[in-house]
Amino acid sequence: MKALVYSAPEEFDILDIPVPQVGPKQVLIRVKACGVCRTDIHIHSGRFISEFPLTPGHEFAGTVEKCGNEVFEFKPGERITADNALPCGHCYFCRRNEPLYCENFYSLGCNGPGGFAEYVVVNSEKVFRIPENLSFEEAAFTEPTACVIHCMDALKIKPGSSVLIFGAGPAGVILSQMIRHCGASNLVVCAPTEKKLEMVRKLAGANTVQIGRSGARDAHQIIMSFAPKGFDYVIDATGSSEIVEQCFDFVRVGGCIAVFGVPNEDAVVKIKPYDIYRREIKFMGTFAQTHCFERAIGFLAKGIVRVAELITHEFPLERYGEALDVLKNDREAMKIIIKP
Ligand SMILES: [Zn+2]
Ligand SMILES: [Zn+2]
Repeated sequence: MKALVYSAPEEFDILDIPVPQVGPKQVLIRVKACGVCRTDIHIHSGRFISEFPLTPGHEFAGTVEKCGNEVFEFKPGERITADNALPCGHCYFCRRNEPLYCENFYSLGCNGPGGFAEYVVVNSEKVFRIPENLSFEEAAFTEPTACVIHCMDALKIKPGSSVLIFGAGPAGVILSQMIRHCGASNLVVCAPTEKKLEMVRKLAGANTVQIGRSGARDAHQIIMSFAPKGFDYVIDATGSSEIVEQCFDFVRVGGCIAVFGVPNEDAVVKIKPYDIYRREIKFMGTFAQTHCFERAIGFLAKGIVRVAELITHEFPLERYGEALDVLKNDREAMKIIIKP
């Protein structure tokens, strides 16, 4: 089969490799669509939790090609997507029912073979059927939508809250839609690219403020005019340390700041502990997801979270390098789908 294979960071090729073996409780998936994500840029440089050699691609959907001999719940031809997060089940945290903190966190497309290939093999309990009305391209958004659900679980947004989001990439737009439908009465999204803000207004009915690349300081007054006492929740969906630092300027007393975008591992921010203490600010992170796929498909299947509009590019596997370039350099690029 054709697969994208990294031998080391920044060194990849399309190779012809054997179709993976299917274990008794596993399913072989013919990949029809696999999303490229900012995380794939981190993985390209050898960051995040990447291990090499590696076939990346953690946002995939396709059809069942073959089932292991102990798999009875699926049959070949069914349209499916799969949860790429595989906690080990036996470490300290797994045994405390906190699988996201798994000490042996295995994630297809990050440190195990993923979906930028014609076939990928997945444990059957991680496979989820997708409804007819969802295209493979849309179903490839199940993973980012699942990460957003995990973020929502962590935030526990109270109905009627005010929420400020920095960043309007695909995950930011999905998060905006979900926050809109899960009780926020006042949602403001800030980003530098007008085209992305337009998408947020259309899909999430949010107020938007265009900001510069270095952050929101110049737009402080306009942003605060939407929530004069500060926002209940301020969420970074950019991964930029400048933005994370500036979140403190917009959160209300007793409010919450969440880091949802993927920062660089060596990024550093300056924060004032006195500010956190005196204003009782909650400062939290939300990373990936486990066990959120079922609910994610629900949002997508019902069209409550809309993603088709987020697809700006589609490439065959052979043009993966070009896809990475577009994601890095084209400010208006949203989701790029690879079709192996
Ligand atoms: Zn992703
Ligand atoms: Zn574990």
